[in-house]
Amino acid sequence: MTTATATRPQMAHLTAALEDLRERGTFFKLRVLDDQQGPVCRYDGREVINLASNNYLGLCNHPKLREAAIRATERYGVGSGAVRTIAGTMRIHMELEEKIAAFKNVEACVVFQSGFTANAGTVSSILGKDDFILSDELNHASIIDGARLSKAKIKVFRHKDVAHCEEILQEVASEPGRKLIITDGVFSMDGDIGPVGDLAVLAEKYGAIMMVDDAHASGVLGRNGRGSVDHFGAHGMVDVQVGTLSKAIGALGGYVCGSRDLIDYLYHRARPFLFSTSHPPSVAASCLAAFEILEDEPERIERLWANTRYFKQQLTDAGFDVGGRSTPASETPITPILIGGGRETMEFSRALFEAGVMATGIAFPTVPEGKARVRTIMTSEHTREQIDRALETLVRVAKRLDLLAA
Ligand SMILES: *Cc1c(COP(=O)(O)O)cnc(C)c1O
Repeated sequence: MTTATATRPQMAHLTAALEDLRERGTFFKLRVLDDQQGPVCRYDGREVINLASNNYLGLCNHPKLREAAIRATERYGVGSGAVRTIAGTMRIHMELEEKIAAFKNVEACVVFQSGFTANAGTVSSILGKDDFILSDELNHASIIDGARLSKAKIKVFRHKDVAHCEEILQEVASEPGRKLIITDGVFSMDGDIGPVGDLAVLAEKYGAIMMVDDAHASGVLGRNGRGSVDHFGAHGMVDVQVGTLSKAIGALGGYVCGSRDLIDYLYHRARPFLFSTSHPPSVAASCLAAFEILEDEPERIERLWANTRYFKQQLTDAGFDVGGRSTPASETPITPILIGGGRETMEFSRALFEAGVMATGIAFPTVPEGKARVRTIMTSEHTREQIDRALETLVRVAKRLDLLAA
């Protein structure tokens, strides 16, 4: 038998595409984490200060989440055994949905396997081909994919531009289809906050459905991390609130919050819910424990924001372009360091890694051409000493590469 290792001619276009990436200097190898996610950890055998994870509150390895996962595994096993609608809805899945709904102050909640499937499954099932989706140009890929799957007409408004969104609403006002306005609560590449309150007012004015994706806002923005709707005091004005359990919550999953009817509808129509197996009980148990910690240990969120303010100020003082000029400035623990070219950005990221700082280089097509950046993310668990050491390294390496004036 021949092995399947070699690329056959019918797949040669993949090799050509990879060659192109190598020539542009943006080809990457996956960095492998040797231990657990943390503010300092070991990737590919090298100890680094970690400015790349979404483990905002350190919950990925909080003892209470660990213990909850182990206890649930001992009691209920490692798998749910079916999709939710067949035989795979466990008591603990229902408890988690009730917990999240109460936390978010909504009627009901449905948990999906990931934030990606929550977005894609929801947008695609609540709209059809005669409808319109008004989407911020920097919205997450899972929203874009969901919009495409819905076959609705997609209208993109300029980033955070509420007036542009209203212009489009006026243009399509006489069309019979439903209108959906959708924005990220926090934009993952720039770290700025979506104008959720103002868009919700527009939605009300034009009778549009309002939806927000709070993946990077869950556990970060609002009281005890309730998200962007709470941050803007827009309770009752947002029909569909998506969140993730994979970032600040520390485990895995996504959820949709809204009215009882919305959730019952998604139980019947959202394809990832219907056709993909539910979480292992350990994941649901970890997430339940995480929501308790959000209420019991608010000091984690306070530390996250204190670290964020300090780190941002120091980066600005050092002369880095953190996005204040060409794009709206970051307002969250995500701080981009704008470099421009993809090649320089990836070189900077690699040099930082060699010097003991893990900060991901992000280039086209994830961000627009010419807007490549090294993205940093602060957590509640970084100590002041680690942050200072990271800053010192960032400055030293940037000067060496001529990215900062010496
Ligand atoms: C990470 C992210 C998602 C996907 O969440 P997962 O739970 O990781 O699948 C969706 N939307 C936005 C804006 C994100 O940043």
